[in-house]
Amino acid sequence: MDLVTVTDVRTPSSRAELSFAPGERPMGGGTWLYSEAQPGLTGLVDLTSLGWSPLDETPDGVTVGATCTIAELTRLRARPEWAAAPLIRQCAESLLASFKIWNVATVGGNVALGLPAGAMTSLMSTLDATAVVWTTDGGERRTPVAEFVTGVRESALAPGEVLRALEIPTASLESRTAFRRIALSPLGRSGTLVTGRLAEAGEFVVTVTAGTIRPVQLRFDEVPSERALSAALDGVDEWYDDPHGAPDWRRATSTGFAEEIRRELGGSW
Ligand SMILES: Cc1cc2nc3c(=O)[nH]c(=O)nc-3n(C[C@H](O)[C@H](O)[C@H](O)COP(=O)(O)OP(=O)(O)OC[C@H]3O[C@@H](n4cnc5c(N)ncnc54)[C@H](O)[C@@H]3O)c2cc1C
Repeated sequence: MDLVTVTDVRTPSSRAELSFAPGERPMGGGTWLYSEAQPGLTGLVDLTSLGWSPLDETPDGVTVGATCTIAELTRLRARPEWAAAPLIRQCAESLLASFKIWNVATVGGNVALGLPAGAMTSLMSTLDATAVVWTTDGGERRTPVAEFVTGVRESALAPGEVLRALEIPTASLESRTAFRRIALSPLGRSGTLVTGRLAEAGEFVVTVTAGTIRPVQLRFDEVPSERALSAALDGVDEWYDDPHGAPDWRRATSTGFAEEIRRELGGSW
């Protein structure tokens, strides 16, 4: 849609130009920004003009630039030992958005937006990725993605801060993962998305997104018993309530999925 209040779109070429005037906001792909009215928005700062590398393999894992598109992420050349690689496409396909949106929407934009059904948040939380934030004083800080999204359209970003990158550790990429998702209609927005990750060292992590207002992670030193997992889920009280699912349905489906995942990743029956 036309954003009739926007009078300026800046295309910065360096970090020095990344300060925001009142009414200005950073833009990734703009797929959400241009999808609804943005009261008070007078200017956009197009982060894609900064030329950030989309994907870099480092000695510690993979760094995903915030402006990496979802399509680019699905084309990551995975090493054979990255057992978690299929999760990338599973999460991309969990977005209500089609492949056309994937070509424009950025991974950073999805995480920074903080929607419960933000499937890049699901992916990055599951993989214990770290969000790299550019602070307004010219510095940098890091925070786990699972803690970065703090509520519905709420994040740990302070005004003027920019999400620069997401760092995925090798150990997570080498973990085995399992995935379950449900929506009220076949192509509908996620009602809940539950993942499991079993690290080589034995740690078992269940991550719930979409069903909860922010990512919820349940961590165990090893694959837990059915009872221990169920008790941990009983303690979750942040079930989301919107037209895409009632909280009691989200709790019930998430609990069932978590148990399926526990068994899939090696838990006893
Ligand atoms: C048909 C359709 C279906 C969709 N389905 C889903 C869905 O299922 N789940 C979902 O979560 N979203 C969905 N969306 C919304 C949106 O397309 C995605 O969330 C997308 O990933 C947003 O990325 P973007 O780069 O386009 O963000 P933008 O629209 O550019 O920005 C989104 C928000 O994040 C901020 N932002 C962007 N990048 C950064 C950054 N690097 N640092 C700080 N702030 C930043 C912007 O200021 C803005 O507030 C859908 C959109 C459409 C049109």
